[in-house]
Amino acid sequence: MVIASSYPLSAGHGARPNRYKPGFDLNAVLEGRARLSNEQFLELYHQAELTDLGRWALAVSQRLHPEDYRTYVIDRNINYTNICTARCTFCAFKRNDPQASDAYTLSPGQIHEKISQLVQIGGTQILMQGGMNPALPIEYYERLLRGIREKFPTVHIHAFSPPEFVEFARFFHLPVAEVLRRFKDCGLATVPGGGGEIFSDRVRRRIGPGKCSGEEWLDVMSQAHQLGMYTSATMLIGHIETIEDRLDHLSRLRRRQDWALANAPAHYTAFIHWTYQPDHTPLDRKRKWNPDSDRPYEFDNGRTVRLADAYEYLRMLALARLYLDNIRNMQSSWVTMGPKIGQLALFFGANDMGSVMMEENVVSSAGTTYKLSQDMICRLIRDSGWTPVQRNQYYEVLQRHAGPDSPDRISVVPGVFPRRQHRITPAEAAAYKNVELKISVKPA
Ligand code: SF4
Repeated sequence: MVIASSYPLSAGHGARPNRYKPGFDLNAVLEGRARLSNEQFLELYHQAELTDLGRWALAVSQRLHPEDYRTYVIDRNINYTNICTARCTFCAFKRNDPQASDAYTLSPGQIHEKISQLVQIGGTQILMQGGMNPALPIEYYERLLRGIREKFPTVHIHAFSPPEFVEFARFFHLPVAEVLRRFKDCGLATVPGGGGEIFSDRVRRRIGPGKCSGEEWLDVMSQAHQLGMYTSATMLIGHIETIEDRLDHLSRLRRRQDWALANAPAHYTAFIHWTYQPDHTPLDRKRKWNPDSDRPYEFDNGRTVRLADAYEYLRMLALARLYLDNIRNMQSSWVTMGPKIGQLALFFGANDMGSVMMEENVVSSAGTTYKLSQDMICRLIRDSGWTPVQRNQYYEVLQRHAGPDSPDRISVVPGVFPRRQHRITPAEAAAYKNVELKISVKPA
């Protein structure tokens, strides 16, 4: 693997004389001898060039993951209900009225059927989350979890989220730790980081009414860690938050992870951030900040939205990689950013392509979702210079795709993924989003 040596552990000095050079010892951060401080984070955010941030984040990623592979997992998102008591303004998935014609709750049998389909294609885990449905008793969840464990003993159950646990505690009149413990006894293995959004109260009050606070979110995860359950962490950017709100979010995560690593049998395994997808969401009715205006973006009680594009996504990924020195894995968010930016993420700090998803309902309700098949994800990883590897939820290697029978080498469907990917027509763009994508390559 030559990538690390092509990106030296020093601030990039291009031909341009005014190129930013860090005013602190960045090499110490890149080599793991020092932590990026909050002030240094802001300095980099405001002054460093995107390409430099990428090179530095890649250096950190290469130090933490010197192996010759990059990973992905095969799972299925199962959204067991869309009925929800919360009114998140960025959400187009929920139904607040249980009588709405398209409100639904899946039965355990319907969920088993979905898992059965997953197992048939070699999937290893489910990511099961819902709205927060007050009509469902604790017995629904316990029966569901026990049933999955009995019928599909090899399938890893990665399910629910801190906001759900906070509401479960309220619905069932039990402490959060007790709900976690009972669910764990029934088969729940790990807890995904859904509902993290932005922890700052001033933002959360505006975008997530009816949902737990940032501190409650973090408390649920700390309790899961104490019970030996690993979790992931997330962040949603590109709505009404400022860069200071994002930094506050990362800072709280870093502190909690320090605590978990020192005091608990489990911790955060990965960090994933993605961008707000506006279609069909109430938040989309707010005015949008104009990036060409002279006025910097400021928090104005949620009246103005600053959308995040690929540039901002990659910038934050690189900064998160530099700042979160105690969270080992960073996932690419190709579901919202598309295959090419998702691939580029591997050069901006991500070491994992996330999931080949059989099903996704939440961001697709907000208008944007990309679908990639296993061969396509493998191809994106291999084209980037790494060997694709299927992993489990603990980032352990399940299958290494080095030989001629690798998914991207045996499955070739010409014509679906055009060569000139950097200049696509609107029709092609729509096709990217709606078609099960296969990469177009000549057989080796
Ligand atoms: S984001 Fe989750 S908690 Fe918020 S309204 Fe949608 S389903 Fe409910």
